Amino acid sequence: MKKERIVKLFMMMLCVMMMIPAAAAPKNRISKNRMGIVAHRGFWNCEEAGYARNSLAALRCAQEAGFWGSEFDVNMTADDTLIVFHDGKIDGKLIEDYPFAEFKSYRLGNGEPIPTLDQYLEQGKLYPETMLVYELKPHSSPEVEDRFVRLTIESLEKHGLLDPKRVMFISFSFHICQRLGELLPDFSVQYLEGNMNPKEVKAVGINGIDYHFSVFDKHPLWPKEARKLKMTTNAWTVNKDEDIRRVIQHRVMYITTDNPLQVRELLKEAKVREVRSINSTSASAPI
Ligand code: MG
Repeated sequence: MKKERIVKLFMMMLCVMMMIPAAAAPKNRISKNRMGIVAHRGFWNCEEAGYARNSLAALRCAQEAGFWGSEFDVNMTADDTLIVFHDGKIDGKLIEDYPFAEFKSYRLGNGEPIPTLDQYLEQGKLYPETMLVYELKPHSSPEVEDRFVRLTIESLEKHGLLDPKRVMFISFSFHICQRLGELLPDFSVQYLEGNMNPKEVKAVGINGIDYHFSVFDKHPLWPKEARKLKMTTNAWTVNKDEDIRRVIQHRVMYITTDNPLQVRELLKEAKVREVRSINSTSASAPI
């Protein structure tokens, strides 16, 4: 009987000892070991997309591959058409100075015409779990940028996509980020320029940062500081293995890349869990 009690006591002690390491782990340990991949201008870097950035095919490939998000660039024409195109000019013509008709004959590398935002959002709707990372390109004045923001919101509303679980915003324009922060406080809005620390960005009503990865190399504590401020963090555009490995160690929430399959492999190597679109349940805090 006595021997039985000793064995029981020993077993209980063993159980308590086994529980200690788990209980002592920091609460956010798991969350820090998850990252989402954002396909830069869609998953354009593959045969199926015809290697055409910002094409509908590139968005479709990103959706099918299950990356957490797909990024795209939006510009506004003089007659208020929003189009998905990276540069501010097409064939030397400033997009915001010309009506959309001027650009209709232009073709992307895979033969597609330049997608209008409406066409792009139609494709975006088909995969509700892929986050649409919407970049608003800077325009010539705050007034023009305000119109651009207003049309953006109207378009998303029209397509049933004005939802922080479906769309997040990025911009190099401080004015655009601030305006979006005021109008859509529930959405993740990330400032791209890299010239302000997380506290300064948060203080002006912008709740995220998406900086070139070299900024995080210089300021490795910023991702942690941003996390404490409940901000989202993202690094662009991380393509080389050595840079990807370093950015994974910086523990930003999302990595924007032209080589999303490579990032997927390197996350596995680092034993960091990839948050795939199929698992995504929240826009601003998937991590
Ligand atoms: Mg972009």
